[in-house]
Amino acid sequence: MRTGRQYAETLSDDRAVFLEGERIKDVTCHRAFQGIVQSISEMFDAAADPCNGMLYCSPETGGEANKVFMIPRSRDDLVERRKSITRWAETSYGFVGRSPDHVGGFLAGFASSPDTFNDGVRAFGENVVRFYRLVVDRSLFVTYVIIPPQADQSVASRGPGDKRLQVGVQSEQDAGMIVSGSQMLGTSTAVSDYLFVSCMKPLTGLDESYALSFVVPVNAPGVKVYCRRPYATEQASAFDYPLSSRFDETDALVVFDKVFVPWESVFVYRNPERVRRQFFDTPAHVLGNSQAQIRLATKMKFVLGVARKIAEVNNLDGIPSVQEKLGELASLSSLVEGMVLAAESAAVTDSNGVVKPNPRFLYCAMGMQAEIYPRAIQLLRELAGGGVIQLPSSYRDLLSDVTRPDMERYLHSPHLPATKRVQLFKLAWDIIGSEFAGRHLQYEMFYAGAPFVARNYAFRNYGFEEALKPVETFLSSYDINR
Ligand SMILES: Cc1cc2nc3c(=O)[nH]c(=O)nc-3n(C[C@H](O)[C@H](O)[C@H](O)COP(=O)(O)OP(=O)(O)OC[C@H]3O[C@@H](n4cnc5c(N)ncnc54)[C@H](O)[C@@H]3O)c2cc1C
Repeated sequence: MRTGRQYAETLSDDRAVFLEGERIKDVTCHRAFQGIVQSISEMFDAAADPCNGMLYCSPETGGEANKVFMIPRSRDDLVERRKSITRWAETSYGFVGRSPDHVGGFLAGFASSPDTFNDGVRAFGENVVRFYRLVVDRSLFVTYVIIPPQADQSVASRGPGDKRLQVGVQSEQDAGMIVSGSQMLGTSTAVSDYLFVSCMKPLTGLDESYALSFVVPVNAPGVKVYCRRPYATEQASAFDYPLSSRFDETDALVVFDKVFVPWESVFVYRNPERVRRQFFDTPAHVLGNSQAQIRLATKMKFVLGVARKIAEVNNLDGIPSVQEKLGELASLSSLVEGMVLAAESAAVTDSNGVVKPNPRFLYCAMGMQAEIYPRAIQLLRELAGGGVIQLPSSYRDLLSDVTRPDMERYLHSPHLPATKRVQLFKLAWDIIGSEFAGRHLQYEMFYAGAPFVARNYAFRNYGFEEALKPVETFLSSYDINR
């Protein structure tokens, strides 16, 4: 089983990652990435440790594998998968969104349904299965860019001679295709092994050149990773920014500059309908996004715990209106957890024998996520008050002989010495107020599409017959005459 060290070593591969106008020599030696590399390494180490119960014998490869990559074929499999995803989420308290199990879930869904990819000309289904086996066998970290860069999204930008910025086929060769363009928003791409590239936004017959699905190593010639401003570099210390310094996933715009993609790495070629079907006619979207909800459940519990501790530390938790706030936060947290368990308990089996979380409950949670997470952050913000601002400029104020006496006198709480109190409130600030916190709010609202898109999934997957039937029954039980 791949260890954290083995993972980190593979990242020194001359990948083209850019920050502040310069190409980074080695991501493992740069402060912007060291925290997240360490955090992902810890995940691989946790998986490799048999005590954590994450290992199984994969029927797809015949070898030892990590359960997070599993194609679930029974309810028990789903439970085991959830426990392993939770174990990983707990290593970052839910603050690493695009750990290897996210796209791993999509790839498991693809591989369970290879026929969806075969177009009668090329056996793309074999490529899908082969790549999935590689991922399982080597515990690869795959991230994805499946959204075109934000620019002109109107239909008028399409059609012959269009000037879209989205990645598309530039030319075809005997051995593969050449692609150019860009795609957003490669979370953790700078520190992953492979990139899955496709398009989640609806495509039409005018979009064939962009209707692609393929994988490419992050260090492939022509792949350029332009990271947003990192949050880990400027922070004084882990004590001052405990989350930013460890879990900054460095989202990036990815540019493809005449990248050669061999046919063996292509899953869909010039086929808008198949691009859509890969996500929704296979369990891919459900498996990938159920990882996201399992992770969110872990994060919500952590946010709730921080809120409860702040109320305790400030001696506020006996006040009824404070208890009401904590009760609301507890309800939000339980809602996410409850939907994860409901989706698992009411799991459905598809025509290939894959047992997947029930889409009704999965998409219900996703449809509400843009309300649930911001509300939870708002509640924590209310409980924290000015305590997250009344903080020393850095840990040095707590160490210096000049400032320490005042810090100790004026920043302690009845139950906590100053250092412990400051530690707690600095953590709260990294959840509600730092740049990292702002990015997380944006992430939870948008990672699976804009909020209206997530609600559309809930609309399409509810199964309205069940709601309509009793209405029809009731309406037919009386009429204008009685
Ligand atoms: C922190 C973060 C990390 C991300 N990581 C990844 C990643 O790793 N890989 C990846 O592929 N993507 C990633 N994404 C991108 C994410 O998938 C997109 O942001 C998301 O799909 C929304 O697309 P958009 O940003 O283009 O928003 P838009 O589609 O432009 O929507 C923005 C807003 O415009 C309005 N709007 C747009 N279209 C309509 C419409 N048809 N009807 C009504 N209103 C409309 C809505 O108010 C909507 O909220 C990430 C995003 C964030 C914020």
